[in-house]
Amino acid sequence: MLKALIFDVDGTLAETEDLHRQAFNRAFDQLGLSWHWSPEQYAELLKVMGGKERLLHYIAQTHPDNEQALAARMPEIHDLKTQIYGELIETGHLKLRPGVARIIAEARAAGVRLGVATTTTRLNLDRLVAINFPDGDKPFDVIAAGDEAANKKPAPDIFDIAVERLGIDPADGIAFEDSAAGIRSALDAGLSVLATRSRYTRSHRLDGAFSAVSDLGEPGRPHQHLSGVTWPDGVVTLAGLQSWHAARQIGADA
Ligand SMILES: [Mg+2]
Repeated sequence: MLKALIFDVDGTLAETEDLHRQAFNRAFDQLGLSWHWSPEQYAELLKVMGGKERLLHYIAQTHPDNEQALAARMPEIHDLKTQIYGELIETGHLKLRPGVARIIAEARAAGVRLGVATTTTRLNLDRLVAINFPDGDKPFDVIAAGDEAANKKPAPDIFDIAVERLGIDPADGIAFEDSAAGIRSALDAGLSVLATRSRYTRSHRLDGAFSAVSDLGEPGRPHQHLSGVTWPDGVVTLAGLQSWHAARQIGADA
């Protein structure tokens, strides 16, 4: 039986990536670093998961002769970036992607549990939730975030932690992801994956997902189907996920 839905955050719950890019650029500027990441460059840098790791990768690539000194400044740069990013969320009305709030409400009404597995920091997630669930409502039963996992995606660690905290068999869960590394991570944790392609993962191969769509869709605003399982009226619903999952289990038991 389908018991839990587990969401990635960046690019999946919301199109956060460009806000991250802007926050990095403002932090560089405020610290007197003459770095500026363009959207194209950032799409490339996103192949490195985790903001801190991304920053170190950039330093190593672009400043090999001064790498040690700049890498030592990474915590300072990253802390300022996190602070700026939070301010941008709080003032920038970062909305959930189409269908996300609806499917969360459907799952809660049906007693299907909800989790988060993300490399983003817990503070960023809390801010996103506070803005989009304003009544002090806590939509997620379980959150695995940031540095809790020793190894970032594509390693399965962060999804393993979420699955363990939910107390489910991973075969009874579905993960929502937007990136190739995230799909790999969830698959290796034993979960099925539904992929929603995001602005910054347009070039990613979404192989391994049982269904890939442009977004979850809303009634009257269907998504674009990309590959795998299709959904009635171009909308992913909890009922649709449950019937797909039940049919799959009958197949597995046969
Ligand atoms: Mg993502």
